[in-house]
Amino acid sequence: MFICKNCKSIDKFELMFAADYKGSKKFTHKYNKNGDIEITVDGYTFIPDLMFMNQHAVCRYCGQIYMWDYTTERGNV
Ligand SMILES: [Zn+2]
Repeated sequence: MFICKNCKSIDKFELMFAADYKGSKKFTHKYNKNGDIEITVDGYTFIPDLMFMNQHAVCRYCGQIYMWDYTTERGNV
């Protein structure tokens, strides 16, 4: 799980896509049975690491980017 270092919200994010990304830019995220967050983008599912989050995720509440840290708390996704 990931926490925004600015506003402390957990796992509330939008993804930024490269300008030349050709997919539909639709993504979902959920917790798997191990409690890890999984992101699915255009049918491809993966578990993001902190580097991914700090390159691609925008906080949905405060709009900050590159502000994620690991947390053991679980968000209300
Ligand atoms: Zn935030």
